[in-house]
Amino acid sequence: MKANCPICKKPTESEADAEFPFCSERCRLFDLGNWASEKYVISEPAFDESMFEDLERDAPPSDADDQG
Ligand SMILES: [Zn+2]
Repeated sequence: MKANCPICKKPTESEADAEFPFCSERCRLFDLGNWASEKYVISEPAFDESMFEDLERDAPPSDADDQG
């Protein structure tokens, strides 16, 4: 059975390549790393943008200091 390496697109053959459908162990491990890192990419922002709006609104005007 023939196929192409999903990583580098080199032609591979199930009977000839031990790491089929990858051309080499390097490409097989590279693919493993790909889906492992995708897990961490799929995550929503941990903060709310409105949080920053509140911070700006609560800040006192810089020229309202009437002490003295
Ligand atoms: Zn490859």
